[in-house]
Amino acid sequence: MARQDNTFMPRENPCAQCGKPIPRPEWVEHSEGRTSYLWTCRACNYRFEAIAIYEVEELRQPLAA
Ligand SMILES: [Zn+2]
Repeated sequence: MARQDNTFMPRENPCAQCGKPIPRPEWVEHSEGRTSYLWTCRACNYRFEAIAIYEVEELRQPLAA
C-alpha cells in the first residue's frame, strides 16, 4: 500500500544564473528534516542545489540524560 506523503515537489524553478524556468529538478534527495533538489538549466548548463528544510517534530527524540 503506497501512502502518499506530503512531499512538496517544486516546479518551474527559475535558473539562478539566467532566470529561465526549469520544469523539474534533476535529482531529489530526501534526508531527515530536509530535502535537496538539484536543478540543471538546459539553457545555460548551470547547476545549482536548493535545500528545503522543515521541522520534524514527530521524529525528534528526547536526549538521554
Ligand atoms: Zn540558466
